[in-house]
Amino acid sequence: MIQDRKKAIIIGSGFGGLSLGLRLQSLGFDTTIVEKLDGPGGRAYVKKVNGFTFDMGPTVITVPHFIEELFALERDTHNLEKPDFPTPLNQSESGLGVATKKYAEIVPIKPFYRIYFDDKSFFDYDGDPIHTREQIKEIAPDDLDGYERFHTDAEAIFKRGFLELGYTFFSDVPSMLKVLPDLLRLDAVRSLFSFTSRYFKSDKLRQVFSFETLLIGGNPLVVPAIYSMIHFVEKTWGVHYVMGGTGALVNGMVKKFEELGGVIRYEAEVTKIDINRRKNWFKKPQIKGLVLNNKETMAADIVVSNADYAHTYMSLIDSEHRRWNPDWRVRNMHYSMSLLVVYFGFKDTGDIDLRHHNIILGPRYEELLTDIFKRKILASDFSQYLHIPTITDPDLAPEGHHAAYTLIPVPHNGSSIDWQIEGPRLTDTVLKFLDEEGYIPDLMTNLVHCEFVTPDYFETTLSSHLGNSFGVEPRLTQSAFFRPHNRSEDIDGLYLVGASSQPGAGTPSVMMSAKMTARAIAKDFSSDIQSWESK
Ligand SMILES: Cc1cc2nc3c(=O)[nH]c(=O)nc-3n(C[C@H](O)[C@H](O)[C@H](O)COP(=O)(O)OP(=O)(O)OC[C@H]3O[C@@H](n4cnc5c(N)ncnc54)[C@H](O)[C@@H]3O)c2cc1C
Repeated sequence: MIQDRKKAIIIGSGFGGLSLGLRLQSLGFDTTIVEKLDGPGGRAYVKKVNGFTFDMGPTVITVPHFIEELFALERDTHNLEKPDFPTPLNQSESGLGVATKKYAEIVPIKPFYRIYFDDKSFFDYDGDPIHTREQIKEIAPDDLDGYERFHTDAEAIFKRGFLELGYTFFSDVPSMLKVLPDLLRLDAVRSLFSFTSRYFKSDKLRQVFSFETLLIGGNPLVVPAIYSMIHFVEKTWGVHYVMGGTGALVNGMVKKFEELGGVIRYEAEVTKIDINRRKNWFKKPQIKGLVLNNKETMAADIVVSNADYAHTYMSLIDSEHRRWNPDWRVRNMHYSMSLLVVYFGFKDTGDIDLRHHNIILGPRYEELLTDIFKRKILASDFSQYLHIPTITDPDLAPEGHHAAYTLIPVPHNGSSIDWQIEGPRLTDTVLKFLDEEGYIPDLMTNLVHCEFVTPDYFETTLSSHLGNSFGVEPRLTQSAFFRPHNRSEDIDGLYLVGASSQPGAGTPSVMMSAKMTARAIAKDFSSDIQSWESK
């Protein structure tokens, strides 16, 4: 018998919400995305001002075949089981496929990063083993052997952790216990920094091979070594850029979602998830729909939250419905650090010798990480990721100018830092540093535009608990089964997608999260989906 199509509502239009929207439309649901902001993207929102286009969030695009897979979806034709990974060695087209080209132009970027050390020497990481070895030889010849061993061991972690287990939804303890022996065998549970320190004696190389987790909110001193796979994800499929900025990719996803029949509503903030009380002690309460800030109620068969985990459970769901995620548990989780991000435009005098992605490390590494994540104090020194997309794509700025942003990891709002005071002060310090240290000579003279966001933006505008920038912090005790579950244990018909749920933050991970959530939904509604397919 053909069933009526079920109604799905997704709260939030971040990469996770949009990816899931595409998947639910292709599964046959009638999907509406409700977004608090006036445009899509969430952390990937775009600021356009005075002829400059600033991507506010993600800029390093990896695993392009995940994007291809989404753009290739069609209504009522899906295959959630097919393996997605082109063989790592077959990088020729690596997913920059036919479907993507209809929506976005994606180009490779090299080097992936230029990493500056405090003494101004640098390491260009580009995934090329020969070039990598040459640079290691320059910096610390004694570490060449260590690099070979690191390469072998990190590759084994990548193969098991990403290629084989990447899509595992750890919904129960047995699923976790099954993989634990492998993780122990691969030494993937120790901290990433301690893992890299086993292979490299040079402080510089320890930083080069561990900093990447900061781009997904993970403290290299704490995050498990399974995250060394990031190095391999980049090496295997490259680092990419979307012409027009990451916002162009977001727009492409919105277009595809609407072509598949999905509906997206902006300035529609959810104030409550509506739930039918449990019928008896043993039954879960059932999803009913949600309420918007204009008091409008929307009925739904399923609700998926792409919003922050703590916001979803503590602000949108009455505590009487939550046995698995009571306030004390949500509050006791560790949340990722936050960021000061400065968006600025300046006249191009032809003097800069930077790359598209630049990491500028400060004088301290471990101590600075401890200040940010543990002591939660604002140190006087800082490290930064400086993004200058106009090196690749001049159209993002008026002629003769560059558009840039620089991102500085800072403690989240569980600190006592007053960002009304520290925001402008740190912004000024950072821009002067770039000028005076010669990274962007005469920046202060040539600056034509500058604005910034602090943890307060993440807390208020993006409704992220304590102003975290990357959701629940990736650490061993908050990974896999211990990370918030994509299918809610508390409420029937409620699911989570995005950075706060499994597997974690970063655009490829939230796209994976969308597929994992779609699989859980496909399992729960399999007879409905089959009946729509046979229509
Ligand atoms: C500055 C910065 C740089 C980054 N750089 C990179 C990078 O280079 N590469 C990379 O892979 N990753 C990067 N990341 C991480 C990556 O951007 C995120 O992990 C990812 O975009 C998160 O997507 P998401 O869908 O989980 O959530 P979000 O993008 O946060 O989307 C959640 C959405 O929910 C909406 N929402 C919240 N509450 C409500 C409500 N009550 N009602 C309605 N809507 C609501 C929000 O407005 C938001 O649009 C970066 C992150 C930041 C902040």
